[in-house]
Amino acid sequence: MKHFFLFFLFGFSMALPKLPLSFSLTKEELLGKISVQNHPNFVRFVSGEKILYLRKEAYEALSLMREAAHRDGLSLSVISAFRSFEDQKHIWESKWRRLASFYPNPHTRCRTILRYSSAPGTSRHHWGTDVDLVSVDPAFFQTKKGKKILAWLETHAPHYGFERPYTHLSNRRGGYEEEPWHWSYRPLATNFLALYLTTVSLTDITGFEGAETLKEIDLWEYITGIAPSLLP
Ligand SMILES: [Zn+2]
Repeated sequence: MKHFFLFFLFGFSMALPKLPLSFSLTKEELLGKISVQNHPNFVRFVSGEKILYLRKEAYEALSLMREAAHRDGLSLSVISAFRSFEDQKHIWESKWRRLASFYPNPHTRCRTILRYSSAPGTSRHHWGTDVDLVSVDPAFFQTKKGKKILAWLETHAPHYGFERPYTHLSNRRGGYEEEPWHWSYRPLATNFLALYLTTVSLTDITGFEGAETLKEIDLWEYITGIAPSLLP
């Protein structure tokens, strides 16, 4: 049944390239519960002092894009790539504890964290298809250098398969704040989102501090609150 579904999803999709069945992800993998070290579909690379991982196709496309940017005098450093459920849990729980005294109401605290951070199990970074480039500070993209980099990416990134899910909020139906740094490798990510929407339910989003409060919040608003071109 599952293979039939995948054949349907990948075999008949006209807009997206056909993917081999090795790209079918389990629910656990979609939730970031995957070991990428020594995984045959992932590439390990170094950016600054960080060791990062991406799916091979995304990494190859990113490398070509970074080379092109370099030829135009721009450096596209990679701040973040694949993140596991545990990585996201660490980010989420750090914020959850740090904001406890500012936002004692847990619902308000969740909404505040969700302005920029995903709940564990709901991050696109879990898929190995998404990257944060250059800076995760919104103010940087207001500087001359930041504007130049964003303009270059907006012109050239789609040629390499990268699109920005978190564009200005007026261009989508809700979700996280605008993130000029977050780029998604569309040929894989859109298929993974389609799989996510049919495989994962919000009851799977559990196992971290604040998860109980998140049950009061419609997380689909965040998961699908992306640029329409990246929706399946
Ligand atoms: Zn990101």
